[in-house]
Amino acid sequence: MSQKAIVVGSGFAGLATATALAQKGFHVTILEKNHQAGGRARAFQTEGYHFDMGPSWYWMPDVFETYFQNFGKKVSDYYTLDRLDPSYRVYFGDRDFVDLPAGTEAVAALFEKIEPGSGEKLLQFMEDSAYKYEVGINDLVYKPGRSVLEFLDLRIAKGLVQLDLLKSMRKYVHSHFKNPRLQQLMEFPILFLGATPQNTPALYSLMNYADIDGGTWFPRGGMHEIVKAMVSLAEEMGVEIKLDHEVTGLKMTGKRISAVNTKQGEFQADLVVNAADYHHFEQEILPPSHRQYSPEYWDKRAMAPSSLLFYLGVNKKVEGILHHTLFFDEDFDKHAEEIYTHPQWPSKPLFYVSATSKTDPNAAPEGKENVFLLMPLAPGLEDSEEQREKYYHIMMDRLESHTGQEIRSHVHYKKSYAMQDFMSDYHAFKGNAYGLANTLKQTAILKPALKSKKVANLYYAGQLTTPGPGVPPSLISGLVAAAEVAKDTKKN
Ligand SMILES: Cc1cc2nc3c(=O)[nH]c(=O)nc-3n(C[C@H](O)[C@H](O)[C@H](O)COP(=O)(O)OP(=O)(O)OC[C@H]3O[C@@H](n4cnc5c(N)ncnc54)[C@H](O)[C@@H]3O)c2cc1C
Repeated sequence: MSQKAIVVGSGFAGLATATALAQKGFHVTILEKNHQAGGRARAFQTEGYHFDMGPSWYWMPDVFETYFQNFGKKVSDYYTLDRLDPSYRVYFGDRDFVDLPAGTEAVAALFEKIEPGSGEKLLQFMEDSAYKYEVGINDLVYKPGRSVLEFLDLRIAKGLVQLDLLKSMRKYVHSHFKNPRLQQLMEFPILFLGATPQNTPALYSLMNYADIDGGTWFPRGGMHEIVKAMVSLAEEMGVEIKLDHEVTGLKMTGKRISAVNTKQGEFQADLVVNAADYHHFEQEILPPSHRQYSPEYWDKRAMAPSSLLFYLGVNKKVEGILHHTLFFDEDFDKHAEEIYTHPQWPSKPLFYVSATSKTDPNAAPEGKENVFLLMPLAPGLEDSEEQREKYYHIMMDRLESHTGQEIRSHVHYKKSYAMQDFMSDYHAFKGNAYGLANTLKQTAILKPALKSKKVANLYYAGQLTTPGPGVPPSLISGLVAAAEVAKDTKKN
C-alpha cells in the first residue's frame, strides 16, 4: 500500500509538491479551498476579456523547462511560449519612456546611448550575474535550508565573494551606473523579491540576468496556462485534486498528523505538506502545542508587499502601453519607505500596467483591451472601497497624462482586488500578495522552516518558506519539500 500524502493548497508550490511526491510513489491528494486551482495565479473571464489574477511576468523559462523534464515532459507539450520584444516599457514622465529590448547586446546598446561607457559595464555586470544565476538557480534555491552545512559545499564557499552576499543591490548597481534611469532599470527586478535594493544582497543581481538575458516570455493564453499544464501533469500522475475543500483542522496522534479535516470530511494522512500560506496553517490550523513559531515571531517578519489591483475592460485600444508597462515617474525610495518603514497608503506610488491583449488577440474582444493595474502596498493596511477608488484615479490620472489620452470613460468593466481579498481568498497573512520578503535576514535557514520541528510528518512549501516569493521559487519549493519527504522516508 502506498503512503498517503496530503498537500494543502493548489498553487505552484502545491502542484509541484504533488507531482514530485506522486513520482516517488506516494498516493497524493491536494486539498484546495477555492473553486479553481492555481492560488495567486487563478484567472477569470468576463464579457470576452481574460484576466490573469496575479502573476503576469514569465521569467526564468529554464526553471519551467527543468520542472517538466523531471517528468519526461516539455513545456511545449502543454503550452507555447513567445518571447516579448521589447520586454517592457518604463515611463519616467509625460510621453517620456524607455523600451527595454530583448537580448543583452541590444540592452547594452540602449544603455550606451543613455550613459556613455555603460554598455561595456552592462556586459561585465551580466557576466557576473550569469555566474550568480548559475549558482543561485542551480544550487542555492534547491537547498532545503535545514542546516548551514548545506552551504559549505565547495563551489558555493568558493563563490561567496563572487556572489556578493554581503553587499547591497543598491551599492552594487550604483557602483556600475550613474544615470538614475539606468539605476532604476537595474533595481526594478528586485521588486519581485518583495524587498528594497538597500536590503537585498547583491547576489540577487541574478534577477538582472533573468530579466535581460533570460528574457520576458508569455505563455499563449495567459499565465494560467502554466497552472493548467501542472494540473494536467498532476492528474496524469494520479494526483487527486479536491477543489472547494478548505482544510479546517487536524487530527493529531502524538507528534504526528493522522488525518486532515475539511467541511466535506476527513482525509487520512501518513504525511502532510502544507503549501497554503504558512502563517495561516501554523497559527490557525495546527493546535497551539504543535506550533513552532509565536505570534511575535510572525509579527516581526518582513512581509513582501500586498497590492491594489484593478482588472479593467476598456472598449478601445489603449495607445502608448505595451504588454508590460512600468510607471517609475515617482521616487521609488519614498514609495518603499511607505511600504516597509512607515507602512501607510503611499503618497506618490509607483505602479504597473499589463495588457496581455497587446500580444494575445483572444485576451479581449476585437478593438478592446484587458488592462490590469497593480500598485504595491504595505501589508496590513486598512482597506476600504474609498481608498481603492482614490488610488484608481491617481493611477488613471498618470496613465492618461503620460500616454496622452482619455481612458476612464472607456472602462466598461472594472473590478478591484486588495488586502481583504488576499485574506479571504488565500488566508494571506496581513493580506500579503507574494509572501515573505527575500532580505538577507530572511534567507535560507533564516526563513520559516520547510520541515516542522514539532510535528514529525509535517512539511511546508510555498512563497513563505525557502527559497522565496515568485512563480519559479514557489514551484522549486514544492520540489525541494518533496525531496525532503523522500529523504526522510527513504524514497529517493
Ligand atoms: C498580484 C500578484 C502579482 C504577481 N506577479 C508575479 C509575476 O509577475 N511573476 C512571478 O514570478 N510571481 C509573481 N507573483 C508571485 C507569485 O504569484 C507567487 O509567489 C506564487 O504564485 C505563490 O505560489 P504558492 O503556491 O506559494 O501560493 P498560492 O498561489 O497562494 O497557493 C496557496 C493555495 O493554498 C490555498 N489555501 C489557503 N488556505 C487553505 C486551506 N485552509 N485549505 C486549503 N487550501 C488553502 C489557497 O487558496 C491557494 O490556492 C505575483 C503575485 C501576486 C499576488
